[in-house]
Amino acid sequence: MPERRNGEAAARRRVSDIQDDDDEPMPKRKKIRSSTSHLKIVPETLELRELVKAKAQQFAEKLDHSKPFNKSQLQVWAMQLLGEMSLPEKYSGFAAVMIGNFFWRRQFLATPFERRMLLLPHCLKHAEGCPAEYTEFGLDCERCGACTIADYKVKAEQLGYKVLVAEGSPIVLKIIVGGYVDAVLGVACLNVLEKAIDKVLIAGVPSYAVPLHSGDCHNTSLDESWIWEVLDKYEPIPDARLTGYVSIMRAANRLFDEHFDRLLPPVRSKTPEAAATPLGKTEDISYDWLRNGGKRFRPFITLAAYDAATGGSCLKNFDSNTQPFEFPDSVARVAMSIEAFHKASLVHDDIEDDDLFRYGRETLHRTHGLGPAINVGDHLIGLGYKLIAASRGGPRFVSGTALAAGDGESSPHDSPAASAVPLSLSADISCDVLERMAAAHIKLCDGQGAEMFWQQNPTLDFTPLDALQIYALKTSPAFEAALYAGLRMAGPIEKYEHLVPQFCRHVGIGFQILNDLKDWNGDNDNKMVAGQDALALRPTLIMSLAWQAASAEQRQLMQSCYFDREEQDAIRLARLRRLYEELGVFNKAERLIEKSRDRAELLADDVESEEIRQLLYFLVDTVLADEQDKDPRDSMPKPSPMLVPLPVTTA
Ligand code: SF4
Repeated sequence: MPERRNGEAAARRRVSDIQDDDDEPMPKRKKIRSSTSHLKIVPETLELRELVKAKAQQFAEKLDHSKPFNKSQLQVWAMQLLGEMSLPEKYSGFAAVMIGNFFWRRQFLATPFERRMLLLPHCLKHAEGCPAEYTEFGLDCERCGACTIADYKVKAEQLGYKVLVAEGSPIVLKIIVGGYVDAVLGVACLNVLEKAIDKVLIAGVPSYAVPLHSGDCHNTSLDESWIWEVLDKYEPIPDARLTGYVSIMRAANRLFDEHFDRLLPPVRSKTPEAAATPLGKTEDISYDWLRNGGKRFRPFITLAAYDAATGGSCLKNFDSNTQPFEFPDSVARVAMSIEAFHKASLVHDDIEDDDLFRYGRETLHRTHGLGPAINVGDHLIGLGYKLIAASRGGPRFVSGTALAAGDGESSPHDSPAASAVPLSLSADISCDVLERMAAAHIKLCDGQGAEMFWQQNPTLDFTPLDALQIYALKTSPAFEAALYAGLRMAGPIEKYEHLVPQFCRHVGIGFQILNDLKDWNGDNDNKMVAGQDALALRPTLIMSLAWQAASAEQRQLMQSCYFDREEQDAIRLARLRRLYEELGVFNKAERLIEKSRDRAELLADDVESEEIRQLLYFLVDTVLADEQDKDPRDSMPKPSPMLVPLPVTTA
């Protein structure tokens, strides 16, 4: 609801009085994030903690439990609760966690033990004597008994929980999206919980958190009784249904898992023997590339947009105990086509940048050679076209039942009943979707080409407008095609014709600037070293902002940092970072992200359909969250997921 956003903006203003020096007054979520440690104090006494907890329970009982919430909404509630209790804002992080707990408590307790995960922090371990090793899933506790981790782990595993001693929400979300657990009981410091909220809570996953008393990684403590009071409790509620995007994320995942062979049957690589022949190899590699790796965010957008425009059946009827919701084959194939186009662009992009790794594996050109890799990229483009074409006619599949063929032009925008939607696409819809995919493809090539031609003849005299133009071309059209396709398949789209490209432009630009900043922060998830864009001479917004603000002397320094290859990289980057800090370009970039976010949210505010509006808010929150594992150009090795075959989420 528009009011929701207004409330969030007000809350942001309340918790931060930093003024924007830009020409337009914009809320400053990023600035709040950068200085929130003073808001994450755990009440010092057990008595006060229990009091906040009890009041949070009363507060949460009054909330609308039918919809998931996001972090901003939670911040608003936390400030409200503290205001009612006349407590200082320093406890707002703690209050937010308590409210979140009681928002979800009933659903959490109604989740069977074997569908829950217990997430423990490794800092609870016995610091000196712990014999456990770290694996890709965190600390592999040997249950020596020297610390409480063993107590929780043994009890939880006896009950049927999956237990993870690790930090970092990406792996948790991957496990959730993989369909292995439906609820999380987590112990963590408020810093970690704050990051987890973006990724887990807004997806609509019931979570219950027990905060550590401090963010200090050593000698930490917690209120142990708070774990025991929920760990072994199971209180089923009749017809327990959740509302959350995780149901659609899982549906997107299944397209590339259990439904893949049916939706895109192989032609030349049907058997291992055929796949090993020269004739079968290209398809085999191409299918493998499409099927495995990546976060499936674009297919998710398409499915979520379709679902929102048809009344939100999948979103509102998520019940992991029943048969999972399935989308019509036509919609599923179009969602897959977007992934095929995306994967094709990544294969070619890896070649252009000579990247070594993608999805934790060697890139295709490194494994199979340049020519075959280019060819596989082209093959994936062909698969994209084929999938769209196949969305017309053929057998239909809804909830495990093959249905009779039937075309239609009914408008689910007008009729929310999912059963009324056309199960195959009319020629008009297919052409519209195809037109938008083709446009996205061309724009991506234009943007990528502009970047490469700039690199052939690099000059720092590159304006922020130039950078924004490239960003808008490289990223926004893919979001746009995914969102447009989902909405268009659901019916006429006149009222979203202008909104979709504008919205995606803001989100795409914000996303690219976020990646610029991530490059300077390094990226722990991807083991990336900071400053790679500068070393690779990529034309970035940060570079252009610096050039614009620099004096003649500073420009000279920039020139030498970028082009004087005789200096060590580390020294050049350190100088450049110092200069960028002096020029305030990181702050400027953060403000531009906030501007993109606010503009996208303003557009979303005006959308009449609540389902579509909420989806747009979700996309803004997800794509522009600052702690993300979702760079589409992620090219460094990651731990290979064992529990989850196909990690999802985030652009
Ligand atoms: S109980 Fe587990 S985590 Fe704790 S010290 Fe022993 S092996 Fe390490």
